[in-house]
Amino acid sequence: MSAEQIERILESTTEDGSGAEPHVARNYAPLEVTIARGEGAWVTDVDGRRYLDLLAAYSAVNFGHRHPALVAALTEQLGRVALTSRAFRNDRLEPFAAALAQLCGKDLVLPMNTGAEAVETGIKVARAWGYRVKGVRDGAARIIVANGNFHGRTTTIVGFSDDESARDGFGPFTPGFDVVPYGDAEAIAQAITDDTVAVLVEPIQGEGGVIIPPEGYLRRIREICDERNVLFIADEIQSGLGRVGTTFACDREGVVPDMYLLGKALGGGLLPVSAVVADEDVLGVIRPGEHGSTFGGNPLAAAVGLQAVEMLASGEFQERATALGAHLREGLEALVGHGVTAVRVAGLWAGVDIDPSRGTGREIAERLLERGVLVKDTHGQTIRIAPPIVVRATELDWALEQLRFVLGS
Ligand SMILES: *Cc1c(COP(=O)(O)O)cnc(C)c1O
Repeated sequence: MSAEQIERILESTTEDGSGAEPHVARNYAPLEVTIARGEGAWVTDVDGRRYLDLLAAYSAVNFGHRHPALVAALTEQLGRVALTSRAFRNDRLEPFAAALAQLCGKDLVLPMNTGAEAVETGIKVARAWGYRVKGVRDGAARIIVANGNFHGRTTTIVGFSDDESARDGFGPFTPGFDVVPYGDAEAIAQAITDDTVAVLVEPIQGEGGVIIPPEGYLRRIREICDERNVLFIADEIQSGLGRVGTTFACDREGVVPDMYLLGKALGGGLLPVSAVVADEDVLGVIRPGEHGSTFGGNPLAAAVGLQAVEMLASGEFQERATALGAHLREGLEALVGHGVTAVRVAGLWAGVDIDPSRGTGREIAERLLERGVLVKDTHGQTIRIAPPIVVRATELDWALEQLRFVLGS
């Protein structure tokens, strides 16, 4: 392609105010907004309109857009070295791993990039643990998962989703998974066999619509896994790292899983950074050459990840999410019966079920967009509210006013 042709393409795309993306594969149906800048809890579109971001990139932007401490960590590291591969050590990975292991109260960290990769890694580790430690017959290992789950988009992961739009057309799928109802610990107990190596659940289901399991669910899973010699894997990729007012959603029940799967906010809203965190007796089963990633554990990601962990270690984001979450809950509960049929709130994270007479979740999201508020619908009638934790209470109040307005109540 000539420089002239490229220039013409750039001109036509930046001048096209329609926001169309004719060259982008249509695997998403984005709202009609084209973001050009972001700072804190706010983003600005190509026409200079400002929007309060109540999605925070599915909680990857928990610390806000371009948090100065994270940007400083990133730029400082950019001036040194960005990518080495794991063929050699880099001087950022061990400090990051040590800090993250300490935050989790675990021994070891296996760094990856995206959330789906952390889940895939967790599956491999659990299977290897099953064969090498538990003594499961080769090739027989099974993992119990919950219905309504969302663990990512790779072929193995969508294979144990029960969302038809995630699965349909993408088989055949990886065997070895058993799906049980979410929130029902006894269903897990009944599904366990001698071949079961792990239970993999989200402590709160994010994409499912902020589905909070009954109190005691996670504690009971912990007991069952201990009794039956099965690993408890908590996918905290969306629920973890401050969102619910604690470091992990498992903390709400005082439960420590055998394996944490982390991602999203671990990259500080700047880079894809994910990890599996577990003790030596679990993660230690992986031997050199059995698993890896060209980019996983790169110095740039590790520098940003370390900064994100340090910000969480202070507890200030968790406290803020708790306080703001209580405020958000109050505002949302007042809407129940007035265009909202139900709300589920955990920290600064809410699923809001829209009364169908007021429109679909998508329509509400479109009307909020017109009023300067960004949210994303999920499962038809639900909108999810998960602002950057740096948002102010007065900004939440303003967003709630806009929601009240678009609901017509
Ligand atoms: C987003 C998400 C994933 C997948 O993360 P990606 O970075 O999009 O691959 C996995 N599990 C949960 C709970 C998530 O919310």
